[in-house]
Amino acid sequence: MLIKDKEIAIVGGGPGGLTLARLLQHQGATVKVYERDVNRDVRVQGATLDLHYESGLLALEQAGLMDAFKASYRPDADRLRIVDKNGKIFLDDHAQQEKSSFGDEHFRPEIDRGPLRDLLLDSLTPGTVIWDSHIVSLEADGERWKIVFQNGNTAFADLVIGADGAKSKIRPLITPIKPFYSGVTILEANIKDSEIHTPKIHDLLKGGKVMALGDAQTLSVSAKGDGSLDFYAGWRDEEDWVVNSGIDFSDNSQVLNWFKKAYPTWGNIWLELFEIEDTTFNPRPQYCMPLDQTWEASANITLIGDAAHLMPPYAGEGVNMAMLDALQLSDSLTNENFSDLKSAISHYEQQMFDRFAEIGKETLDNTEFMHSTDGLKKLLQMFGQEHH
Ligand SMILES: Cc1cc2nc3c(=O)[nH]c(=O)nc-3n(C[C@H](O)[C@H](O)[C@H](O)COP(=O)(O)OP(=O)(O)OC[C@H]3O[C@@H](n4cnc5c(N)ncnc54)[C@H](O)[C@@H]3O)c2cc1C
Repeated sequence: MLIKDKEIAIVGGGPGGLTLARLLQHQGATVKVYERDVNRDVRVQGATLDLHYESGLLALEQAGLMDAFKASYRPDADRLRIVDKNGKIFLDDHAQQEKSSFGDEHFRPEIDRGPLRDLLLDSLTPGTVIWDSHIVSLEADGERWKIVFQNGNTAFADLVIGADGAKSKIRPLITPIKPFYSGVTILEANIKDSEIHTPKIHDLLKGGKVMALGDAQTLSVSAKGDGSLDFYAGWRDEEDWVVNSGIDFSDNSQVLNWFKKAYPTWGNIWLELFEIEDTTFNPRPQYCMPLDQTWEASANITLIGDAAHLMPPYAGEGVNMAMLDALQLSDSLTNENFSDLKSAISHYEQQMFDRFAEIGKETLDNTEFMHSTDGLKKLLQMFGQEHH
């Protein structure tokens, strides 16, 4: 095996990095994951994730983790309601009798990020993840790499895989290609005890997901297993809106006032999302890597996940692509047919480039139409329904 006797460093313990670590360890490789979080108990934030048959679930299957997944996913959390800006329901999965299940290619079970991270962490040999390892630089050391951490520690590796997300420190060592602004900004927040704090939205959610569209704006809401809900508002704005708006995002009254002005035609049902005092709002302009990006493969460094192909969340593909990258890279690195690491990495990267050209386009198309004036109509059409 090409990676026998090689020390592999995966930078970043998100879903991509941890899936790769598991798959490689499964094949007997020597792997360490360097993660900047101080420990595994740091709360993993963000909306729930639906895993797809041909990507996220396939990677878990190959990693021997389907039983662990079945013990941690949230049945029925995939049930979606598509509503208009007043909360009027146009598509309702809860009303459907038929329910898809594992083995059905349209079944997209939901899992919270925390439990997904836990099941991947629990599958690794103890000591695989080196916490509190915020990488600040990577230096060539002959054919190896010297990794430098913010806390003053250093480590060495023969092969480095950047799985360190949207603001990857590894990516600039591989390519100067930068992401471009998609034209849409999101404002994200988590609300604890949604039943108490946001009862109307809690009822609308029914433990699943709500996608609201109107006037070229969106609101995506998902229930989480801990009784909280996550939501993100999305709208078209200038790239520098976060700074130029002058909003203090730690002050919910400022955010509430902004929402009332920015979403003036939206119904009052949504206001409760912005009325809770200790909510932390995260504004994020949405970036995407160029769809035609390529680079020449190296023999000892590559990228997976958002570090390789950041994209907006409007096709629900980010985590699925990160996990499929992990599977395809692991398959290439352990494939006896490649004579050297550069060829193996090149094979993986070509698959990743081709796939991203397609999935990234679908994502940008969705981002575009969902933030257009007939977004609701088009989304309903995508789900095979007419808008009346
Ligand atoms: C609001 C929102 C909703 C989304 N919804 C979905 C969805 O429904 N479905 C879906 O498939 N995708 C969704 N995505 C996208 C998805 O979250 C990402 O594509 C996915 O998390 C990428 O996984 P990753 O492992 O590549 O990177 P990440 O999840 O970003 O993980 C990177 C890891 O690297 C660590 N790290 C970063 N820098 C360093 C450093 N310098 N040193 C050491 N460690 C470092 C981080 O702490 C983190 O643990 C959504 C994204 C957003 C913003």
